Amino acid sequence: MIQSTMMEYPLTLTHLLGRAGTYFKKMEIVSRMPDRSLHRYTYADFTRRAWQLAEALQKAGLQPGDRVATLMWNHYAHLEAYFGIPVAGGVLHTLNLRLAPDDIAYISNHAEDRFLIVDDILLPLLEKFRDKAPFERVFVVPLTGAAIYPYTSSYESYEELLKTADGSFVAPQLKETDAAAMCYTSGTTGRPKGVVYSHRALVLHTLVQSMPDVLNISMHDTVTPVVPLFHANGWGFAFAATTVGAKQVYPGPYLDAQSLLDLFAEEGVNCTAGVPTIWLGIAQALEHNPGRWDVSGLRMAVGGAAIPEGLMRTLESYGATVQHAWGMTETSPLATASFLKAGMEDLSVDEQYKRKAMQGVAVPFVEMRIVRDGVEAPWDGETMGEIQVRGPWITMAYHNLEGSTSSFSDDGWLCTGDIGVIDEEGYMKITDRVKDLIKSGGEWISSVDLENALMGHPAVAEAAVVAVPDPKWQERPLAAVVVKPGCEVTEDELREHLAGSFPNWYLPDHVVFIDEIPRTSTGKFMKAKLRDEFRDIQVQQ
Ligand code: ADP
Repeated sequence: MIQSTMMEYPLTLTHLLGRAGTYFKKMEIVSRMPDRSLHRYTYADFTRRAWQLAEALQKAGLQPGDRVATLMWNHYAHLEAYFGIPVAGGVLHTLNLRLAPDDIAYISNHAEDRFLIVDDILLPLLEKFRDKAPFERVFVVPLTGAAIYPYTSSYESYEELLKTADGSFVAPQLKETDAAAMCYTSGTTGRPKGVVYSHRALVLHTLVQSMPDVLNISMHDTVTPVVPLFHANGWGFAFAATTVGAKQVYPGPYLDAQSLLDLFAEEGVNCTAGVPTIWLGIAQALEHNPGRWDVSGLRMAVGGAAIPEGLMRTLESYGATVQHAWGMTETSPLATASFLKAGMEDLSVDEQYKRKAMQGVAVPFVEMRIVRDGVEAPWDGETMGEIQVRGPWITMAYHNLEGSTSSFSDDGWLCTGDIGVIDEEGYMKITDRVKDLIKSGGEWISSVDLENALMGHPAVAEAAVVAVPDPKWQERPLAAVVVKPGCEVTEDELREHLAGSFPNWYLPDHVVFIDEIPRTSTGKFMKAKLRDEFRDIQVQQ
């Protein structure tokens, strides 16, 4: 037997922070502050402060594995927390500030958070659940410089916390399997569930995410994660950008299209990531202000929900490149990314978009299969089944949750609850979530396919398709449509538009026109609400 002669070297975030501080000192990190001014500092400042945070937390009594929660927008201090907490041996727990206060309190108690770092502008939100939350100490980041009065008695300043560090920090010897961070699902289809990431998972995810045919992140990029750092591990962008030493630009609380486009232009951003709703707003702003912003060369990663092909085409018509990726909180989150394989440049434009609009191929170390009725389904691009994945950054359990085993197969795969197809080339397309799928007389109708086709109609701004109960077919599709301002379209015209691409039985029985599609905290269509609202429509007619 031959033995490997390689070192056993732990894959930890500690190494990545150290390296960033050693080699990329002069690179910049820019953050939009609540007063809209730009806060700038360098990697030298960022890494020094992240180490200070680690030391200060230890001095405050942080024990290995203690959870330190954050309630913050995307900015420099959140980045400091992203590294400072895990390198101290703590577990970074990002709280979703868009959830209802009671839900945040539930999550925080469930995670047993010990400390909290919070933006001063979010204190009014914290006040709504402070009495129900477990935090022993609360550190306030003074973004506005305003005094934290009237809350001073129980809150402390984050800056004062950092000052307790005197440079004597000795990084704990972490194992790569130690917990580094945790995040709860956004709860689109049920109560939020917690996932705990190890150092190893985050490091490997970072390396693969940055690869050329994955999201291609380099120090020559200027990176803006629009996706909140509290949503599914911030999609890994803060870790990846820091690891490669890229300039980082954070939007703070300003996520409207104009603020983002201004920020991209002012800071030369060429690599960004967010959910389709954000990019829809950007497309509309570009359309209404011809020539005001130049997005040519901007690479936009999109995930969290399917991006309609039409929106992808619109954004690319301005010179941007849109890359579709799929994943979930449970998968750290990157599981697949879409890119054209070598040779596919020769395909027709329509064929290329067909591929690009799919969720893509599994990234290295992620294995993927589709399962229908307990059997692995063929990769024929047609047979729908549940997507199952496994790999080093895929969770195998939920944090402290009894009875969640149905999310995992007997042979150790994560059952994602997403329905999709995989074609012969390995490109996966999400057609639905299990709970959103429309089961009509034994056939499956993909709500996502119908939505994308509806959103391809020139008069349609947005469309969500949901199942409504039907006495004969069990379920039938209903389309809730938002019409673009100044446009008109009838139910029959929309059905005719769809008839070209779908069989008759696929077409929605009902088309209702609404002002706005309800959304979740992470910008997804809140289909459960639409189902509730229209569940009696068949009976009413
Ligand atoms: P929640 O399950 O509460 O929505 P997550 O924020 O973890 O929590 O979302 C993961 C889900 O988002 C996936 O299971 C999938 O349904 C959806 N999703 C993510 N990326 C995409 C994508 N590119 N296309 C379609 N759906 C996506």
